[in-house]
Amino acid sequence: MHGRAGEDPTEPPRSSPYPFPALPHEPYTTDLTERLRGQGFHPFSLPVGVDWREGGRCIRCFTCDGFPCKLLAKGDADVCCVRPALASPNVQLMTQTLARRLLTDATGRRIAGVEVERAGARFVLRAGVYIVSCGAVNSTALLLRSANDAHPNGLANSSGQVGRNYMAHINSTLIAVDPARENGDTFHKTLAINDFYLPGAHAKYPIGNLQIMGKIQASGYIAAGRPHLSLDERRRMARHSSDWWIMSEDLPDPENRVTLGSDGSIRVRRKFKNEAAHHRLVRAAEEMLRSVGYREFIYQLMPIETNSH
Ligand code: SF4
Repeated sequence: MHGRAGEDPTEPPRSSPYPFPALPHEPYTTDLTERLRGQGFHPFSLPVGVDWREGGRCIRCFTCDGFPCKLLAKGDADVCCVRPALASPNVQLMTQTLARRLLTDATGRRIAGVEVERAGARFVLRAGVYIVSCGAVNSTALLLRSANDAHPNGLANSSGQVGRNYMAHINSTLIAVDPARENGDTFHKTLAINDFYLPGAHAKYPIGNLQIMGKIQASGYIAAGRPHLSLDERRRMARHSSDWWIMSEDLPDPENRVTLGSDGSIRVRRKFKNEAAHHRLVRAAEEMLRSVGYREFIYQLMPIETNSH
């Protein structure tokens, strides 16, 4: 992890600095940071988990954000967890395999096996310890699919709370264009702003975090947000834009939940509970960016498909 302790005004206490220094901003982002500071904001170096150590594999390319790293230089679950685990002789990774159900023993209080399906065949795996770790939606679905006579509403669900109060971030993208400045940065994702994260003059409640995304290209977000523009026009915007990820916390609601359909399909019901705060953050971001020269904006609220975290 690369970062710089003490820059983020919302940073909690920490016992030691980051293991590696913050990734330096490239020239456009350096200039943007100075402009933001000039307007009284507190931009900080975004902590980034890429292997940019001396001799590390990272080459700071432009496809980092939202893509797997072909050089295995990104500190993701594959690189940091799965591949090191597979180096152990007693670890086997079964791909293309669905964990269908957890089976309980006769007492109904212990897991006795996990029924899996692979290439159309079902069989049971048995172990001393089982770890359910399939993410918020699929862990819920596994527990609900495992209903039996002793647990008619699914495992660990005597309260009826399994799958309820489902929360994820409320996310938007904001592409801000300043026609007067060309953005020649390649690795763009080194800057974040938490000036709106805590209550203050902008709002009585926390409204969220702003961070730069990987540099957008003419064919992606801009094409989705401005489909009527020509490719040349989209390229012009991409060359002159700063691209932001806008992220607010959501609030719990028991009706936002994961359930199973009668055919076993997974259903996620999600209605934002903190949308007003998020829109306030979007407005604050736009005002902030206007104050440092941006004039055109493409905004997009991320739909339910963006269920990360
Ligand atoms: S994808 Fe990310 S981690 Fe991988 S080389 Fe590019 S910048 Fe580095």
